[in-house]
Amino acid sequence: MLTTTSPALAGFQGRLIGVQDADYDDARAVYNAMIDKRPGMIARPATLEDIAKIVALGRDQDLPLAIRGGGHNGAGLGTVDDGIVIDLTMFKDIQVDPVARTVRVGGGATWGEVDRATGKYGLATPSGIISTTGVGGLTLGGGLGHLTRRFGLSIDNLLEAEVVLADGSLARASADEHPDLFWALRGGGGNFGVVTSFLFRLHEVGTIFGGPTFWPVEQSAEVMKAYREFLPGASRELNGFFAFHIVPPGPPFPEEIHLREVCGVIWCYLGSEEDATRAMAPLLDSVPEPLMHGVGAMPHADLQGAFDGLYPRGEQWYWRADFVDEIPDEAVALHAKFGAQLPTAKSLMHLYPIDGAAHDVDVADTAWGYRGSRWSTTYAGVDPDPANVDAIRRWSVDYSDALRPYTAGGGYVNMMMEEGRERIRAAYGPNYDRLARVKAIYDPHNTFRVNQNIEPAS
Ligand SMILES: Cc1cc2nc3c(=O)[nH]c(=O)nc-3n(C[C@H](O)[C@H](O)[C@H](O)COP(=O)(O)OP(=O)(O)OC[C@H]3O[C@@H](n4cnc5c(N)ncnc54)[C@H](O)[C@@H]3O)c2cc1C
Repeated sequence: MLTTTSPALAGFQGRLIGVQDADYDDARAVYNAMIDKRPGMIARPATLEDIAKIVALGRDQDLPLAIRGGGHNGAGLGTVDDGIVIDLTMFKDIQVDPVARTVRVGGGATWGEVDRATGKYGLATPSGIISTTGVGGLTLGGGLGHLTRRFGLSIDNLLEAEVVLADGSLARASADEHPDLFWALRGGGGNFGVVTSFLFRLHEVGTIFGGPTFWPVEQSAEVMKAYREFLPGASRELNGFFAFHIVPPGPPFPEEIHLREVCGVIWCYLGSEEDATRAMAPLLDSVPEPLMHGVGAMPHADLQGAFDGLYPRGEQWYWRADFVDEIPDEAVALHAKFGAQLPTAKSLMHLYPIDGAAHDVDVADTAWGYRGSRWSTTYAGVDPDPANVDAIRRWSVDYSDALRPYTAGGGYVNMMMEEGRERIRAAYGPNYDRLARVKAIYDPHNTFRVNQNIEPAS
């Protein structure tokens, strides 16, 4: 039986939380409140040796091991029934080297913590669009966000990772050391071990010019058609993801549009207001006057945190995701239909660009399988009330099923629920078989299987 007093854990320096502990319920909870799992133990290691001990225990007793970075995973893969959660809360060290332009980040840090540390030097590395997300899961699955078009995915800026492997040893993976592991970590998720630190390249990203432009949802077909023509030709300094939202009832949004259903583009321009205005103009000039053009200059970290208050921990999320090469008129019509039927005030559809610098990397260079696609679509039903779970699930599933014929075949692993082996295989496209071979080298017994799992090649 699994207990926190197991002899295998003698000398453990961090904290072990068992079902008997007062904070067990708090410790087992993850960001998505739809996930309600009861691990046998939550381990918060303080040292590399602690991690090795937990991995050995899981491996030797064949217990499922869930690795938790920021705990944001939609499918709840940062926790597991009956097994052990390796919660990396104590691995949050962040060291910025402004001269070398790198940042070394502990495997349990969140992006907000990283952005604040690097922002002091006017530097940043590509992450996502919400600052509370974990560096671990977001990076290992790829990492797309406001800086994608200019600087690529998070994995395109990863220089090195330190990993506790299934045999308990520590490996450094980079272009020069364990290059096959380094290849697999860049997109292959938590399949290969516990990443205790990441080394990222930094870029000059000081003040950005960004924010949302909103139009009435009734104009979404017109705006989306203009957006699909405009964005691929826009300069890389400009990132803009298309979105369906209901306007939150509070500042900074004007009262007259509170709770109004809208379509929009959320912008991030790396440069001056004047250049940003010029870069956005071809789109804005080709569509009707928006309800709100809420763009302004701000530190990059502020844009990263802009959604944080709206989406706190502990609400229900149902995710679907697909990669998209083109958006034909038939797909636009379906988006207009489902986008106008958001089931709850916080539900959303986002269409993230994955072109620009993300296209400079060949599909074979990292495990991420869709370098040819232009967008990654996310349909997320979101609501604080568990009574609305069926409604948010139905909307996400119906919307994504309707659009599936117009997609590239797979979806982004970081924005999927648990959708079965075929969807995981599809998420990696041409890279799946190589991932399975690397898995067979580093984790032949599938010790790390609580993830979008890549089964070791036989
Ligand atoms: C509100 C919200 C906004 C989001 N926005 C974006 C976005 O803009 N861009 C984007 O790309 N994604 C985004 N995501 C998706 C996000 O990338 C995934 O949910 C990701 O899994 C979160 O990482 P985490 O560390 O917080 O998750 P966790 O639940 O802690 O971990 C998820 C999985 O990642 C692996 N993992 C995590 N840390 C480690 C580690 N150190 N070593 C080994 N494996 C590890 C494990 O397999 C684990 O099961 C968002 C998610 C949410 C909830």
